Amino acid sequence: MSSASHTPAAPEEGATKPSNFLRQIIEHDLAKGSYASRRWAGSPGDAAHHASAPHDPARIRTRFPPEPNGYLHVGHAKSICLNFGLARDYGGVCHLRFDDTNPEKEDTEYVDSIIDAVKWLGFDWNGAPDAAPYQASDYFDFMYRAAEALIERGHAYVDEQTPEQMRANRGDFSRPGVDSPYRSRTPAENLTRFRQMRDGELADGAAVLRARIAMDSPNINLRDPAIYRIRRATHHNTGDKWCIYPMYTFAHPIEDALENITHSICTLEFEDQRPFYDWLLERLIEAGLLAAPAPHQYEFARLNLSYVITSKRKLAQLVNEGKVSGWDDPRMPTIVGLRRRGYTPASIQLFAERIGVTKSDSWIDYSTLEGCLREDLEAKAYRGMAVLDPVKLVLTNWDEVMGAGHLEPCTLPALPHVPEGQPEPAARQFSIGREVWIEREDFEEVPPKGYKRLFPGNKVRLKGAYVIECTGCLRDAEGRVTEVQAQLIPDTKSGTPGADSVKAKAAITWVGVADGVSAEIRLYDRLFSDAQPDAGGKDFLASLNPNSLKVVSGFVEPSLAQAKPDQKFQFERHGYFVADRLDHAPGQPVFNRAVGLKDSWGK
Ligand code: ATP
Ligand code: MG
Repeated sequence: MSSASHTPAAPEEGATKPSNFLRQIIEHDLAKGSYASRRWAGSPGDAAHHASAPHDPARIRTRFPPEPNGYLHVGHAKSICLNFGLARDYGGVCHLRFDDTNPEKEDTEYVDSIIDAVKWLGFDWNGAPDAAPYQASDYFDFMYRAAEALIERGHAYVDEQTPEQMRANRGDFSRPGVDSPYRSRTPAENLTRFRQMRDGELADGAAVLRARIAMDSPNINLRDPAIYRIRRATHHNTGDKWCIYPMYTFAHPIEDALENITHSICTLEFEDQRPFYDWLLERLIEAGLLAAPAPHQYEFARLNLSYVITSKRKLAQLVNEGKVSGWDDPRMPTIVGLRRRGYTPASIQLFAERIGVTKSDSWIDYSTLEGCLREDLEAKAYRGMAVLDPVKLVLTNWDEVMGAGHLEPCTLPALPHVPEGQPEPAARQFSIGREVWIEREDFEEVPPKGYKRLFPGNKVRLKGAYVIECTGCLRDAEGRVTEVQAQLIPDTKSGTPGADSVKAKAAITWVGVADGVSAEIRLYDRLFSDAQPDAGGKDFLASLNPNSLKVVSGFVEPSLAQAKPDQKFQFERHGYFVADRLDHAPGQPVFNRAVGLKDSWGK
């Protein structure tokens, strides 16, 4: 799918998707023309920058603003699909912006992985297919100017209380705050002091710049929040230019405004910050620094997925303590992990759409995510046969009826139903000889009630090949079956006139010993056995599922052995598998189980 963020879509397009409160807000704003007067100079900037520019061609602007301090996970994927999806559907543009105002936490490894993840999910940003992402740190100069403007207008002051005094004087839900002794400084005094902060004349932590709002506000976030702090740290973008850095709550609304964002969508925990968001932008519009109308913040419930943790800190712990092989371990809920597991961008977009957006927290069952992958792969993934727990089956009359050493070519379609308008893929070619691999569970010397597969005297079809009749087995000293034996019934080959001449109770999957290829198959399961592994401060490591990875050595049919890395298949009867992106090589196959054919956890 290509994002049409740079080619405004038809207005009706949004109406074809199930509605939600955000779509209603946007449709209302578009109908009212709330943002129609905005101008856009082609790049982010202040009021003067945009003033004489043409009207903004983007009908709305949304943004995805990750902090480059970790790998993105399935929760971020929800936010990405939401923000980029809304922009696409309403003729807008979504911005990818690195929220890199915190100098200590960034890493280019994370920047690159975030860019890859958004691209992989199918989106482009900032109005052009290869546009550079925006960086919040590019706005430091403006943020500094904005801070001085607040000071000049009496809306901010330098506070030199100790952090303990500040905390004590902030009050709490039942007690109003107490004014700082520094609160009544004049704008001129504050400006001098703030410049001293900027010029490195004060120690780290010796002072902060605070907004002057109301120490008795019922919303504690409005009790003169800190907006700038002193922190001597080298920033990856601005180096040592600054020793003061803006606080997130100050920086974020400004970033949105400079970028002409219309709908700033975030998770519910920021709801209490919204009054400050609005306060700040109103003050900066009054000061003439930013153009009206201001962006608005809207909150939605974050994704909580059962059997999954999404805290970056805890995910890092899994990686650092070697509980998983890395950020891209196929059991990780990271986008790189999901990708390696076999998830497709379409399945994740479908998931995001299906769970929708709401204003109240809830848990989504993991099987919803799995169901979306099945739904996407069902029509697309080529079929193939693989034997995961192999035992040899010998057709003891082969030489007699088919000829010694003969290999009989067989074929099956790659897809059972080719979607209309799509070319039919080439059929799979494989062959049968005297020996084939079958699943160990497909033979029982003494069949349990209702068992329809191989047992002495029973007939089954080897899928795509012949009907055979089981005659018995060989066992080793421990009693383990080492070989199953059967007789081939000639003239029953699938697709020939005699195919229906002999009734078989079941068809079983198999792989020829002659042309099957041995494969490493990684059977992944959920990483945790507790549906809410870290709820209520639980030790999430205690519920690690010890069976979340089982590696088996099996056999796959030739078409599977030729898979390209990252190619997905349905292994008949076993589920959906992907050729591992890193370790698979044609001829030396390595497959990951993405998801089983049916939900086996709900029960
Ligand atoms: P941190 O705790 O480090 O801030 P974060 O998960 O909030 O982690 P950010 O990089 O700040 O990470 O997130 C980028 C965007 O993704 C934010 O707008 C945030 O609201 C959104 N987001 C993060 N987690 C989820 C989630 N579980 N569901 C939906 N959106 C999420
Ligand atoms: Mg965050």
